Amino acid sequence: MAELRRDPVSSNWVVVGYSSIKSDSVGDCPFCPDNEHLTPKAIREIKDNEGKWLIRCFPASNPIFLIEVGENKKAEGLYDKMGNVGAHEIIVENRSHTKTISNFTDRELSLVLDMYRERILDLKRDRRFKYIQLFKNHGELAGSYIFHPHSHIVATPVMPQRTELELSNAKRHYMQKERCLFCDIVDQEIRQNKRVVSINASFVAICPFASRFPFEVWILPRFHQESFENLQDEGNTYEFIDILLDLLKRIEKLTNAYTIIIHTSPNHFKANTHDEDLPVKAYFHWHIEILPRDFRSSKYKREDQFYVVSITPEEAASSLRTQNV
Ligand SMILES: [Zn+2]
Ligand SMILES: [Zn+2]
Ligand SMILES: [Zn+2]
Repeated sequence: MAELRRDPVSSNWVVVGYSSIKSDSVGDCPFCPDNEHLTPKAIREIKDNEGKWLIRCFPASNPIFLIEVGENKKAEGLYDKMGNVGAHEIIVENRSHTKTISNFTDRELSLVLDMYRERILDLKRDRRFKYIQLFKNHGELAGSYIFHPHSHIVATPVMPQRTELELSNAKRHYMQKERCLFCDIVDQEIRQNKRVVSINASFVAICPFASRFPFEVWILPRFHQESFENLQDEGNTYEFIDILLDLLKRIEKLTNAYTIIIHTSPNHFKANTHDEDLPVKAYFHWHIEILPRDFRSSKYKREDQFYVVSITPEEAASSLRTQNV
C-alpha cells in the first residue's frame, strides 16, 4: 500500500509503495473516441452541438493519489507519514489521436484552458489538498506512453518541494523589498532583452537566467496575478494562447520531448506557513515552465539537483527567437 513519508533531513515528501501497472491493451488507444469504456467514467466533458465530446476529464486508472484514502497523519518515532490522499485526473485534450498541442487551433486550446481552470477551481474546494499540480508530457522521453494528447492534474495533501521553495523565496523577496519577485524578473528581463524569446502586450516568454535544461522557457504574465485559474478574468486569454502556441512551435523545432508545468498559487486554506501573515496573493505570480528533455541534455551529469546545461540561456533564447514558425 502506498503512503507519503517525509525525509526529515531534506524535508522532502515521497510516495513509497506505489507500483504502476502498465495498461495491457497495447493495440487500442484508451483515449480515442469510441474507446471511452477503456477509461473510468468522466468527471467532466465539454461537448459539441451533436453531443460528441471535444475534451474530457476522468480519474487516472492508476492514480498515485486517491480521493478516498484517509489523511491518517502519523508519527513513527521522529518520522512523519500520512495517507496518499489526493486526486489524480487525466484530461484528454482533443478527439484527434495525432494532433499535437502546438497544432491546436485557438478554439481547441481555449477549451483546454477552460477545463484546466474548472478542474483547478473544483479541486481547490477540497480543504485536504494543499496544492494542485497541472502538467503535460509531450513525447516519449518526457515520460508519456500514450501518444494521444492529454494532461495530468494531481492534487496533493503536501506541498511539492519546488513549489515550497518558490513560495518561500518569493515571500522573502517581498518581505525585503515589498515587490513581487516575478514582477521584478519580468521587468528586468524585458529591460535587458537578452533572454526574451517572445513577448506581447500581456505575456513574456524567457529562457530563465539559470536554466536547468537546454531551451527551458518560462511564460509569465506581465501583470501581477497569483493564480493561473484566474487568467480568463483579465480578458487576455487569446494573448496567452498566442504566445503559448508560438513558443511550442519554436521548441518543437529544437527538441521532440518536453514537459509543460503550470505553477499556480497553492490552496489558500491549507498553505499553512504561507498565509497567516502575508497573503500569497501579494507575492506569488503564476507562470508556465516548459522543460525540454532531449538526448543531448541526458548526456550531461545531473547529480543531486546540480544541473549542468550545455547551452547558455542567452544562446537558447537567441536560437528559439530565430526559428521560422
Ligand atoms: Zn488515441
Ligand atoms: Zn507579480
Ligand atoms: Zn515555477
